Amino acid sequence: MRVRFWGTRGSIATPGPGTNHFGGNTSCVELTTDKGDLLIFDCGTGAHPLAVDLKARGKKPLHLNILLGHTHWDHIQGFPFFSTAFEKGNSVAIYGPEGSRGSLQDVLAGQMEFTYFPIELNQLPAEITYHDLTEGIHKVGGVRIATQFLHHPAMTLGYRIEADGVAVVYLVDHEPFSDQLWRADAEPGRIESILHEGDRRHAKFMADADLVIHDAQYTPEEYVSKKTWGHSTYEYVVEAAAAAGVKRVALTHHDPDHDDRFVEEIERRARALVSQRGIALDVFCAYEGCAIALEPRQSLKPFVTPDPFQASVAQRSFRILVVDDEPDIRTMAVLALKQDQHTVLEAGSGPEALRMIEEQMPDLVVMDFKMPGMDGIEVVKTLRAKPETMRLPILMLTAMTDEASTRAGFAAGVTDYVSKPFSIPQLISRARACLARTAIG
Ligand SMILES: [Zn+2]
Ligand SMILES: [Zn+2]
Repeated sequence: MRVRFWGTRGSIATPGPGTNHFGGNTSCVELTTDKGDLLIFDCGTGAHPLAVDLKARGKKPLHLNILLGHTHWDHIQGFPFFSTAFEKGNSVAIYGPEGSRGSLQDVLAGQMEFTYFPIELNQLPAEITYHDLTEGIHKVGGVRIATQFLHHPAMTLGYRIEADGVAVVYLVDHEPFSDQLWRADAEPGRIESILHEGDRRHAKFMADADLVIHDAQYTPEEYVSKKTWGHSTYEYVVEAAAAAGVKRVALTHHDPDHDDRFVEEIERRARALVSQRGIALDVFCAYEGCAIALEPRQSLKPFVTPDPFQASVAQRSFRILVVDDEPDIRTMAVLALKQDQHTVLEAGSGPEALRMIEEQMPDLVVMDFKMPGMDGIEVVKTLRAKPETMRLPILMLTAMTDEASTRAGFAAGVTDYVSKPFSIPQLISRARACLARTAIG
Protein backbone atom coordinates (compact mmCIF):
# COMPACT_ATOMS: atom_id res chain seq x y z
CA MET A 1 0.00 0.00 0.00
CA ARG A 2 1.22 3.50 -0.79
CA VAL A 3 0.19 6.80 0.79
CA ARG A 4 1.02 10.23 -0.53
CA PHE A 5 0.26 13.67 0.90
CA TRP A 6 -1.01 16.35 -1.50
CA GLY A 7 -2.37 18.82 1.04
CA THR A 8 -1.39 19.12 4.71
CA ARG A 9 -2.73 22.56 5.65
CA GLY A 10 -5.86 23.23 7.69
CA SER A 11 -8.45 25.98 7.34
CA ILE A 12 -7.11 27.96 4.36
CA ALA A 13 -4.45 27.41 1.70
CA THR A 14 -1.22 29.27 2.55
CA PRO A 15 1.27 29.07 -0.32
CA GLY A 16 4.45 31.15 -0.07
CA PRO A 17 8.08 31.05 0.90
CA GLY A 18 7.26 30.44 4.57
CA THR A 19 5.42 27.17 3.86
CA ASN A 20 7.60 25.73 1.06
CA HIS A 21 8.54 22.60 2.94
CA PHE A 22 5.34 21.47 4.68
CA GLY A 23 3.16 22.89 1.92
CA GLY A 24 0.32 25.37 1.59
CA ASN A 25 -2.45 23.22 0.09
CA THR A 26 -5.39 22.15 2.22
CA SER A 27 -6.21 18.52 3.12
CA CYS A 28 -5.78 15.83 0.48
CA VAL A 29 -4.15 12.40 0.82
CA GLU A 30 -3.90 9.68 -1.80
CA LEU A 31 -3.87 5.97 -0.90
CA THR A 32 -3.27 3.21 -3.46
CA THR A 33 -3.59 -0.47 -2.63
CA ASP A 34 -1.40 -3.15 -4.20
CA LYS A 35 -4.38 -4.22 -6.34
CA GLY A 36 -4.77 -0.67 -7.62
CA ASP A 37 -7.74 0.59 -5.59
CA LEU A 38 -7.40 4.37 -5.46
CA LEU A 39 -8.72 6.20 -2.39
CA ILE A 40 -8.48 9.93 -1.81
CA PHE A 41 -9.03 11.37 1.67
CA ASP A 42 -10.51 14.85 1.48
CA CYS A 43 -10.57 17.19 -1.45
CA GLY A 44 -8.90 20.40 -0.26
CA THR A 45 -6.79 22.43 -2.68
CA GLY A 46 -4.25 19.58 -2.74
CA ALA A 47 -6.73 17.76 -5.01
CA HIS A 48 -5.73 20.03 -7.89
CA PRO A 49 -2.05 18.95 -8.17
CA LEU A 50 -3.19 15.38 -7.50
CA ALA A 51 -5.52 15.47 -10.53
CA VAL A 52 -2.71 16.90 -12.68
CA ASP A 53 -0.47 14.05 -11.58
CA LEU A 54 -3.16 11.40 -12.16
CA LYS A 55 -3.51 12.61 -15.75
CA ALA A 56 0.25 12.56 -16.29
CA ARG A 57 0.32 8.89 -15.22
CA GLY A 58 -1.61 8.21 -18.45
CA LYS A 59 -4.00 5.53 -17.15
CA LYS A 60 -7.49 5.76 -18.67
CA PRO A 61 -10.28 5.58 -17.67
CA LEU A 62 -9.80 6.30 -13.97
CA HIS A 63 -12.01 4.84 -11.25
CA LEU A 64 -11.45 6.38 -7.88
CA ASN A 65 -13.01 6.91 -4.48
CA ILE A 66 -13.06 10.14 -2.52
CA LEU A 67 -13.58 9.81 1.23
CA LEU A 68 -14.56 13.14 2.77
CA GLY A 69 -14.16 13.47 6.54
CA HIS A 70 -16.60 16.37 6.47
CA THR A 71 -17.65 19.19 4.20
CA HIS A 72 -15.97 22.24 5.74
CA TRP A 73 -14.39 24.33 3.01
CA ASP A 74 -10.79 23.25 3.49
CA HIS A 75 -11.87 19.65 2.81
CA ILE A 76 -13.95 20.14 -0.35
CA GLN A 77 -12.66 23.33 -1.95
CA GLY A 78 -10.40 21.50 -4.38
CA PHE A 79 -13.23 19.42 -5.83
CA PRO A 80 -14.37 21.99 -8.46
CA PHE A 81 -10.73 21.98 -9.67
CA PHE A 82 -10.30 18.22 -9.59
CA SER A 83 -9.97 17.75 -13.34
CA THR A 84 -10.37 13.95 -13.14
CA ALA A 85 -14.10 14.63 -12.68
CA PHE A 86 -14.14 16.64 -15.92
CA GLU A 87 -13.26 13.67 -18.15
CA LYS A 88 -15.89 11.43 -19.66
CA GLY A 89 -15.26 7.77 -18.96
CA ASN A 90 -13.79 8.36 -15.50
CA SER A 91 -15.83 7.42 -12.47
CA VAL A 92 -15.68 9.01 -9.05
CA ALA A 93 -17.44 7.56 -5.99
CA ILE A 94 -17.73 10.14 -3.23
CA TYR A 95 -18.23 9.06 0.40
CA GLY A 96 -18.88 11.34 3.33
CA PRO A 97 -20.89 11.70 6.52
CA GLU A 98 -24.60 12.14 6.06
CA GLY A 99 -25.57 15.71 6.87
CA SER A 100 -28.55 17.08 8.74
CA ARG A 101 -29.19 19.95 6.32
CA GLY A 102 -29.00 18.04 3.05
CA SER A 103 -27.41 15.05 1.35
CA LEU A 104 -23.71 14.92 0.52
CA GLN A 105 -24.64 15.63 -3.11
CA ASP A 106 -26.69 18.71 -2.10
CA VAL A 107 -23.81 20.10 -0.03
CA LEU A 108 -21.24 19.58 -2.82
CA ALA A 109 -23.64 21.05 -5.38
CA GLY A 110 -23.99 24.12 -3.13
CA GLN A 111 -20.36 25.16 -3.54
CA MET A 112 -20.70 24.83 -7.33
CA GLU A 113 -23.80 26.97 -7.83
CA PHE A 114 -23.34 29.47 -10.67
CA THR A 115 -22.82 32.24 -8.10
CA TYR A 116 -19.57 30.58 -7.05
CA PHE A 117 -18.45 28.52 -10.04
CA PRO A 118 -19.14 28.42 -13.80
CA ILE A 119 -19.91 24.68 -14.00
CA GLU A 120 -22.54 23.01 -11.87
CA LEU A 121 -21.96 19.67 -10.17
CA ASN A 122 -24.48 17.78 -12.33
CA GLN A 123 -22.74 19.01 -15.50
CA LEU A 124 -19.49 17.21 -14.76
CA PRO A 125 -18.77 14.63 -17.48
CA ALA A 126 -17.38 11.85 -15.25
CA GLU A 127 -19.78 9.37 -13.69
CA ILE A 128 -20.17 10.51 -10.10
CA THR A 129 -21.92 8.56 -7.34
CA TYR A 130 -22.63 9.73 -3.80
CA HIS A 131 -22.63 7.63 -0.64
CA ASP A 132 -23.85 9.16 2.62
CA LEU A 133 -22.29 7.27 5.50
CA THR A 134 -22.84 6.84 9.20
CA GLU A 135 -20.68 4.75 11.53
CA GLY A 136 -20.05 1.17 10.48
CA ILE A 137 -18.07 -1.17 8.25
CA HIS A 138 -18.10 -0.64 4.49
CA LYS A 139 -16.50 -2.33 1.51
CA VAL A 140 -14.98 -0.35 -1.35
CA GLY A 141 -13.31 -2.47 -4.01
CA GLY A 142 -10.96 -4.80 -2.16
CA VAL A 143 -10.75 -2.47 0.82
CA ARG A 144 -12.47 -2.81 4.19
CA ILE A 145 -13.37 0.59 5.58
CA ALA A 146 -14.54 1.32 9.12
CA THR A 147 -16.04 4.72 9.93
CA GLN A 148 -16.47 6.44 13.28
CA PHE A 149 -17.62 9.94 14.23
CA LEU A 150 -14.93 12.37 15.35
CA HIS A 151 -15.32 15.32 17.71
CA HIS A 152 -15.71 18.38 15.54
CA PRO A 153 -18.33 21.14 15.20
CA ALA A 154 -19.76 19.38 12.12
CA MET A 155 -20.67 15.74 11.49
CA THR A 156 -17.19 14.38 10.73
CA LEU A 157 -16.11 10.80 10.06
CA GLY A 158 -12.77 9.16 10.69
CA TYR A 159 -11.80 6.39 8.27
CA ARG A 160 -9.93 3.20 9.03
CA ILE A 161 -8.68 1.46 5.89
CA GLU A 162 -7.71 -2.20 6.04
CA ALA A 163 -6.12 -3.75 2.95
CA ASP A 164 -2.85 -5.43 1.94
CA GLY A 165 -2.40 -6.63 5.53
CA VAL A 166 -2.06 -3.12 6.94
CA ALA A 167 -4.30 -0.49 8.54
CA VAL A 168 -4.22 3.24 7.79
CA VAL A 169 -6.45 5.54 9.84
CA TYR A 170 -7.42 9.06 8.76
CA LEU A 171 -8.59 11.29 11.66
CA VAL A 172 -9.00 14.89 10.46
CA ASP A 173 -10.57 17.16 12.01
CA HIS A 174 -10.89 16.17 15.67
CA GLU A 175 -10.42 17.55 19.17
CA PRO A 176 -10.19 15.74 22.53
CA PHE A 177 -13.50 14.91 24.21
CA SER A 178 -12.03 15.73 27.61
CA ASP A 179 -9.30 18.07 28.90
CA GLN A 180 -7.93 15.25 30.97
CA LEU A 181 -6.91 12.12 29.06
CA TRP A 182 -6.07 9.70 31.89
CA ARG A 183 -7.94 8.54 34.98
CA ALA A 184 -5.96 9.41 38.08
CA ASP A 185 -6.46 5.96 39.63
CA ALA A 186 -5.11 3.97 36.68
CA GLU A 187 -1.75 3.54 35.02
CA PRO A 188 -1.44 6.13 32.22
CA GLY A 189 -0.50 5.03 28.71
CA ARG A 190 -3.14 2.30 28.32
CA ILE A 191 -6.47 2.47 26.49
CA GLU A 192 -8.33 1.23 29.60
CA SER A 193 -6.92 4.18 31.58
CA ILE A 194 -8.53 6.81 29.32
CA LEU A 195 -11.08 8.83 31.28
CA HIS A 196 -13.70 9.88 28.70
CA GLU A 197 -15.56 7.18 26.80
CA GLY A 198 -15.26 9.28 23.59
CA ASP A 199 -11.45 9.47 23.80
CA ARG A 200 -11.26 5.76 24.62
CA ARG A 201 -13.40 4.92 21.58
CA HIS A 202 -11.15 7.21 19.48
CA ALA A 203 -8.00 5.40 20.64
CA LYS A 204 -9.57 1.99 20.01
CA PHE A 205 -10.43 3.07 16.48
CA MET A 206 -6.73 3.56 15.69
CA ALA A 207 -5.57 0.48 17.62
CA ASP A 208 -2.61 -1.36 16.11
CA ALA A 209 -2.60 0.82 12.97
CA ASP A 210 0.48 0.97 10.75
CA LEU A 211 -0.12 4.64 10.00
CA VAL A 212 -2.44 7.19 11.61
CA ILE A 213 -2.93 10.53 9.87
CA HIS A 214 -4.19 12.87 12.59
CA ASP A 215 -5.22 16.49 13.00
CA ALA A 216 -2.66 18.29 15.20
CA GLN A 217 -3.32 21.91 14.37
CA TYR A 218 -2.39 23.44 17.73
CA THR A 219 0.28 23.45 20.38
CA PRO A 220 -1.06 22.78 23.90
CA GLU A 221 -0.56 26.50 24.68
CA GLU A 222 -2.66 27.58 21.67
CA TYR A 223 -5.39 25.02 22.33
CA VAL A 224 -6.40 26.74 25.58
CA SER A 225 -8.00 29.58 23.61
CA LYS A 226 -9.20 27.39 20.68
CA LYS A 227 -11.39 24.91 22.53
CA THR A 228 -14.58 23.85 20.70
CA TRP A 229 -12.93 24.70 17.33
CA GLY A 230 -12.49 21.00 16.68
CA HIS A 231 -8.72 20.46 16.48
CA SER A 232 -6.12 18.53 18.42
CA THR A 233 -2.66 19.09 19.84
CA TYR A 234 0.37 16.89 19.05
CA GLU A 235 0.41 15.95 22.73
CA TYR A 236 -3.07 14.39 22.66
CA VAL A 237 -2.29 12.58 19.40
CA VAL A 238 1.00 11.12 20.64
CA GLU A 239 -0.53 9.96 23.95
CA ALA A 240 -3.64 8.41 22.36
CA ALA A 241 -1.70 6.78 19.50
CA ALA A 242 0.91 5.34 21.86
CA ALA A 243 -1.81 3.87 24.09
CA ALA A 244 -3.40 2.35 20.97
CA GLY A 245 -0.16 0.66 19.87
CA VAL A 246 0.06 2.68 16.65
CA LYS A 247 3.33 2.32 14.75
CA ARG A 248 3.57 5.59 12.86
CA VAL A 249 1.75 8.95 13.14
CA ALA A 250 1.60 11.72 10.58
CA LEU A 251 0.57 15.02 12.19
CA THR A 252 -1.34 17.16 9.72
CA HIS A 253 -3.91 19.96 9.19
CA HIS A 254 -1.16 22.47 10.00
CA ASP A 255 -2.40 25.85 11.17
CA PRO A 256 -2.27 28.54 8.44
CA ASP A 257 -0.42 30.79 10.91
CA HIS A 258 2.37 28.24 11.39
CA ASP A 259 5.30 28.59 9.01
CA ASP A 260 7.80 25.81 8.27
CA ARG A 261 9.94 26.69 11.27
CA PHE A 262 6.96 26.52 13.61
CA VAL A 263 5.75 23.17 12.22
CA GLU A 264 9.30 21.81 12.56
CA GLU A 265 9.22 22.87 16.20
CA ILE A 266 5.94 20.98 16.68
CA GLU A 267 7.60 17.89 15.18
CA ARG A 268 10.58 18.31 17.50
CA ARG A 269 8.33 18.65 20.55
CA ALA A 270 6.22 15.64 19.51
CA ARG A 271 9.38 13.52 19.15
CA ALA A 272 10.71 14.76 22.49
CA LEU A 273 7.47 13.62 24.12
CA VAL A 274 7.84 10.19 22.49
CA SER A 275 11.36 9.72 23.84
CA GLN A 276 10.39 11.13 27.24
CA ARG A 277 7.66 8.47 27.46
CA GLY A 278 10.05 5.79 26.17
CA ILE A 279 7.55 4.55 23.61
CA ALA A 280 8.11 3.05 20.17
CA LEU A 281 6.24 5.48 17.95
CA ASP A 282 7.45 7.13 14.79
CA VAL A 283 5.90 10.61 14.71
CA PHE A 284 6.42 13.27 12.05
CA CYS A 285 4.70 16.32 10.56
CA ALA A 286 3.24 15.51 7.15
CA TYR A 287 4.51 17.54 4.22
CA GLU A 288 3.34 17.90 0.65
CA GLY A 289 4.91 15.24 -1.53
CA CYS A 290 5.62 12.93 1.41
CA ALA A 291 5.21 9.34 0.13
CA ILE A 292 5.07 6.26 2.33
CA ALA A 293 5.10 2.60 1.32
CA LEU A 294 3.57 0.21 3.86
CA GLU A 295 4.67 -3.41 3.82
CA PRO A 296 2.08 -6.13 4.51
CA ARG A 297 2.22 -8.02 7.81
CA GLN A 298 0.49 -11.14 9.08
CA SER A 299 -0.60 -9.91 12.48
CA LEU A 300 -3.25 -7.29 11.60
CA LYS A 301 -6.45 -7.74 13.60
CA PRO A 302 -9.51 -6.35 11.78
CA PHE A 303 -11.33 -3.59 13.63
CA VAL A 304 -14.61 -4.64 15.20
CA THR A 305 -17.20 -1.92 15.57
CA PRO A 306 -18.47 -1.47 19.16
CA ASP A 307 -21.98 -0.54 17.97
CA PRO A 308 -22.92 -2.93 15.16
CA PHE A 309 -26.27 -1.24 14.54
CA GLN A 310 -26.17 2.29 13.20
CA ALA A 311 -29.31 4.13 12.15
CA SER A 312 -29.35 6.71 9.43
CA VAL A 313 -30.28 10.01 11.06
CA ALA A 314 -29.83 12.17 7.99
CA GLN A 315 -32.35 14.97 7.81
CA ARG A 316 -34.48 13.25 10.45
CA SER A 317 -36.12 15.27 13.15
CA PHE A 318 -36.07 13.84 16.69
CA ARG A 319 -37.85 14.58 19.97
CA ILE A 320 -35.29 15.90 22.44
CA LEU A 321 -35.83 16.83 26.10
CA VAL A 322 -33.51 19.52 27.48
CA VAL A 323 -33.21 19.54 31.29
CA ASP A 324 -31.42 22.42 33.03
CA ASP A 325 -32.26 24.69 35.95
CA GLU A 326 -30.29 27.59 34.43
CA PRO A 327 -32.56 29.33 31.89
CA ASP A 328 -29.63 30.78 29.86
CA ILE A 329 -27.93 27.47 29.17
CA ARG A 330 -31.31 25.80 28.58
CA THR A 331 -32.28 28.46 26.05
CA MET A 332 -28.98 28.06 24.20
CA ALA A 333 -29.30 24.26 24.03
CA VAL A 334 -32.94 24.50 22.94
CA LEU A 335 -32.11 27.02 20.20
CA ALA A 336 -29.21 24.89 18.95
CA LEU A 337 -31.29 21.73 18.72
CA LYS A 338 -34.29 23.52 17.16
CA GLN A 339 -31.90 24.95 14.57
CA ASP A 340 -31.07 21.35 13.69
CA GLN A 341 -34.78 20.67 12.97
CA HIS A 342 -35.61 18.76 16.17
CA THR A 343 -38.72 19.02 18.30
CA VAL A 344 -37.43 20.25 21.65
CA LEU A 345 -39.13 20.01 25.05
CA GLU A 346 -37.84 21.72 28.20
CA ALA A 347 -37.73 20.83 31.86
CA GLY A 348 -36.29 22.99 34.68
CA SER A 349 -35.64 20.19 37.18
CA GLY A 350 -35.00 16.46 37.54
CA PRO A 351 -38.47 15.53 38.86
CA GLU A 352 -40.14 17.55 36.08
CA ALA A 353 -37.98 15.72 33.50
CA LEU A 354 -38.95 12.30 34.93
CA ARG A 355 -42.65 13.24 34.76
CA MET A 356 -42.32 14.40 31.15
CA ILE A 357 -40.40 11.26 30.12
CA GLU A 358 -43.14 9.10 31.65
CA GLU A 359 -45.80 10.97 29.66
CA GLN A 360 -43.99 10.80 26.36
CA MET A 361 -40.68 9.11 25.64
CA PRO A 362 -38.12 11.40 23.95
CA ASP A 363 -35.44 10.10 21.53
CA LEU A 364 -32.67 11.88 23.48
CA VAL A 365 -32.27 13.67 26.80
CA VAL A 366 -29.79 16.56 27.06
CA MET A 367 -29.31 17.23 30.76
CA ASP A 368 -27.30 19.42 33.12
CA PHE A 369 -25.14 17.64 35.66
CA LYS A 370 -25.62 20.05 38.54
CA MET A 371 -29.19 20.93 39.47
CA PRO A 372 -30.63 21.86 42.88
CA GLY A 373 -32.61 19.08 44.57
CA MET A 374 -32.35 16.05 42.35
CA ASP A 375 -29.11 16.35 40.31
CA GLY A 376 -28.40 14.94 36.85
CA ILE A 377 -26.71 11.79 38.11
CA GLU A 378 -29.73 10.89 40.25
CA VAL A 379 -32.03 11.37 37.25
CA VAL A 380 -29.77 9.11 35.15
CA LYS A 381 -29.73 6.43 37.86
CA THR A 382 -33.54 6.56 38.14
CA LEU A 383 -33.90 6.22 34.36
CA ARG A 384 -31.37 3.40 34.09
CA ALA A 385 -33.21 1.41 36.78
CA LYS A 386 -36.38 1.18 34.67
CA PRO A 387 -36.54 -1.21 31.69
CA GLU A 388 -38.31 1.30 29.40
CA THR A 389 -35.61 3.98 29.85
CA MET A 390 -32.62 1.69 30.35
CA ARG A 391 -31.26 2.54 26.90
CA LEU A 392 -32.62 6.06 26.47
CA PRO A 393 -29.67 8.12 25.15
CA ILE A 394 -28.58 10.78 27.65
CA LEU A 395 -26.15 13.53 26.82
CA MET A 396 -24.85 15.20 29.97
CA LEU A 397 -23.89 18.88 29.93
CA THR A 398 -21.53 20.02 32.60
CA ALA A 399 -19.22 22.76 33.76
CA MET A 400 -17.63 20.19 36.02
CA THR A 401 -14.76 18.81 34.01
CA ASP A 402 -13.19 17.27 37.07
CA GLU A 403 -12.43 13.60 36.91
CA ALA A 404 -14.79 12.46 39.68
CA SER A 405 -17.90 13.88 37.97
CA THR A 406 -16.92 12.52 34.54
CA ARG A 407 -16.43 9.06 36.02
CA ALA A 408 -19.63 9.29 38.06
CA GLY A 409 -21.51 10.27 34.89
CA PHE A 410 -20.25 7.35 32.82
CA ALA A 411 -20.65 4.93 35.75
CA ALA A 412 -24.30 5.98 36.12
CA GLY A 413 -24.90 5.22 32.45
CA VAL A 414 -24.56 8.55 30.65
CA THR A 415 -24.24 8.05 26.87
CA ASP A 416 -22.03 11.08 26.25
CA TYR A 417 -20.61 13.92 28.25
CA VAL A 418 -20.22 17.49 26.89
CA SER A 419 -18.37 20.07 28.96
CA LYS A 420 -19.35 23.75 29.12
CA PRO A 421 -18.70 26.06 27.47
CA PHE A 422 -19.81 24.25 24.34
CA SER A 423 -20.58 25.77 20.96
CA ILE A 424 -23.88 25.44 19.10
CA PRO A 425 -22.47 23.41 16.14
CA GLN A 426 -20.58 21.20 18.61
CA LEU A 427 -23.75 20.36 20.56
CA ILE A 428 -25.64 19.73 17.30
CA SER A 429 -23.07 17.22 16.03
CA ARG A 430 -22.66 15.48 19.40
CA ALA A 431 -26.46 15.05 19.65
CA ARG A 432 -26.62 13.62 16.10
CA ALA A 433 -23.72 11.22 16.76
CA CYS A 434 -25.52 10.07 19.92
CA LEU A 435 -28.76 9.55 17.97
CA ALA A 436 -26.96 7.67 15.16
CA ARG A 437 -25.62 5.20 17.72
CA THR A 438 -28.91 4.70 19.48
CA ALA A 439 -31.89 5.66 17.27
CA ILE A 440 -34.20 2.97 16.03
CA GLY A 441 -34.90 2.41 12.35
ZN1 LIG B 1 -10.35 21.32 8.42
ZN1 LIG C 1 -13.53 21.31 9.92
